[in-house]
Amino acid sequence: MAFISLRNINKIYPNGFHAVHNFNLDIEKGEFVVFVGPSGCGKSTTLRMIAGLEDISDGEFLLNGVRANEQGPRERGIAMVFQSYALYPQMTVFDNIAFGLTLQGVDEDEIDRRVRNTARILGLTDYLDRLPRALSGGQRQRVAIGRAIIRKVNIFLMDEPLSNLDAKQRVTMRYEIAQIHKETGATTVYVTHDQTEAMTLADRIVVMKDGYIQQVGTPYELYYKPVNVFVAGFIGEPPMNFVRGTLEKGCMTFGENKLDLTNWRSGVNEWEGRNVVLGFRPEAISLKEIPNALKVDSFVELTELLGDNSNIYVKSGENTAILKVDSHDTPEMDAPLTFWIPMDSVYLFDGETEKALGVDFEGKNETSVA
Ligand code: ATP
Repeated sequence: MAFISLRNINKIYPNGFHAVHNFNLDIEKGEFVVFVGPSGCGKSTTLRMIAGLEDISDGEFLLNGVRANEQGPRERGIAMVFQSYALYPQMTVFDNIAFGLTLQGVDEDEIDRRVRNTARILGLTDYLDRLPRALSGGQRQRVAIGRAIIRKVNIFLMDEPLSNLDAKQRVTMRYEIAQIHKETGATTVYVTHDQTEAMTLADRIVVMKDGYIQQVGTPYELYYKPVNVFVAGFIGEPPMNFVRGTLEKGCMTFGENKLDLTNWRSGVNEWEGRNVVLGFRPEAISLKEIPNALKVDSFVELTELLGDNSNIYVKSGENTAILKVDSHDTPEMDAPLTFWIPMDSVYLFDGETEKALGVDFEGKNETSVA
């Protein structure tokens, strides 16, 4: 039996807006699950329904197999960290972390022990006497997390907890959240619109769009086996390149190039004459000739050196693509460039439904298709 079960959950707001559609998900004890998707796709609404902060319009929410739709946040044993960490400015770090326990009337020695243990996990031991204004953004966010994890809760919910931090702090805190999860083993549901955060933190990711689940899977599965164009384009940075066209005599057109896909996978001839979308990841290409690959002649419009790698913006006819190469191999701008796409890194999607072609998702319970 799953620890948390969401069965056919729907959210219709009082103004009639249907924000979440038939959301189905089982979460195991100790799992770190991330909801990811563009702004407005229903991530926070779903999280708030799990928290008990938002009514569930339809469907069933189960905790340990028992219906919990009617339970309030406290009964559910949930702690939540929000985007804005709203610490009490006049209280020390110690008192901020201890606040919930003090309210509950927990014994002082017990509070002291638990605050110090929480501070140790979060690396805040040296800051316990400080006021929040004397902390960095990352340290403040850690205090907010401390305030949540000090309570003995079953489920830990986080809604974009890193969005107020700068890029560098986000990377550090990401690592720290992973460490905290390792140490506490708390079942965690985490909301973000940042696919890197999702990929690095999650045991499993739920990709959402327009209130619908698109795919549920491990980061590996979502990267290598996206079920549709949306997931393929959302996971990965820079995003996957897409070429739209018709499969004619087993070939697709990329600008001046004819890409022969007859050897792609058995059954490719079934899509002859159909509109398809060909996808390949920027990092999957080779600048040297390799066997069993599609050769593409292109023209370099722009190069961006990012450190260990470079993004190369290429064009052929009307088609454009981004390539990610080792920065030592950065080609000249405004010059021709030939690259190869390994056949086993080529994705094909149905041009109408945008669903992946030639991928067998049956019998894989960890991956569900919308
Ligand atoms: P973000 O990343 O921007 O926070 P999200 O994926 O978390 O987005 P939600 O906040 O869950 O999205 O909102 C989902 C949809 O529901 C949005 O279109 C939003 O405008 C709508 N919505 C949210 N709250 C309400 C409300 N109280 N009444 C009506 N519609 C709402």
